[in-house]
Amino acid sequence: MAKNWVYKTPGIPDDLFNQSDVVPGPTKEEIRVVTIAKARLRDGDVVIDVGCGTGGLTVEAALQVAPKGKVYAIDEDEAAIRLTNSNVEKFGVQDNVSITRGKAPESLLSLPKADAFMIGGGGLSLRAIVQTAHYKLKPNGRVVINAILLETATTAIAELKALGFKDIDITHISVAKGKQINSGTMMMARNPITIVSATKP
Ligand code: SAH
Repeated sequence: MAKNWVYKTPGIPDDLFNQSDVVPGPTKEEIRVVTIAKARLRDGDVVIDVGCGTGGLTVEAALQVAPKGKVYAIDEDEAAIRLTNSNVEKFGVQDNVSITRGKAPESLLSLPKADAFMIGGGGLSLRAIVQTAHYKLKPNGRVVINAILLETATTAIAELKALGFKDIDITHISVAKGKQINSGTMMMARNPITIVSATKP
């Protein structure tokens, strides 16, 4: 049963996740909120999280698709698999998550058809991962790509167009957080993220 986050809404504070210096993530809180919204998740959905890292998006998606749905979390890095597993246990969503160590896109082929793909890692394999997402998504399935690099975003947009995805949406988000200093509240900027999402016809 879910624990440590009793709310329906996403947006688990970053510092509630177990974290590691050698594993990226969690995807920052406000970026997770928009990512989950763009994925348009429902109870019972099957979600594939490519590059689960710390497990931030894995846990948020699992809370949305529970109790009947499933999140398949994939990462090529052993430390990321262990950390995602610890966060899945911390938030009590084990029944709704399956974690596999493997490299995308190869390791995606054995997974079931999905309602949504979240792609947060992929590097040079991004084109092939988006192609595999197209193959694995059910009709009207959603794909969401979180890009730190401009090149990732433009590659994703080009590939989604080439594959005939519809409703391609590109949203660039800049978040600044208030920090208390002696004279008041100073806004500290975080790296902007480009969220590219689309629907499979
Ligand atoms: N969304 C995560 C953070 C993702 S960090 C969170 O909220 O915690 C990106 C992860 O993608 C890294 O852990 C990296 O190991 C993984 N990754 C990058 N390319 C990959 C590939 N081709 N196959 C599997 N994992 C990959």
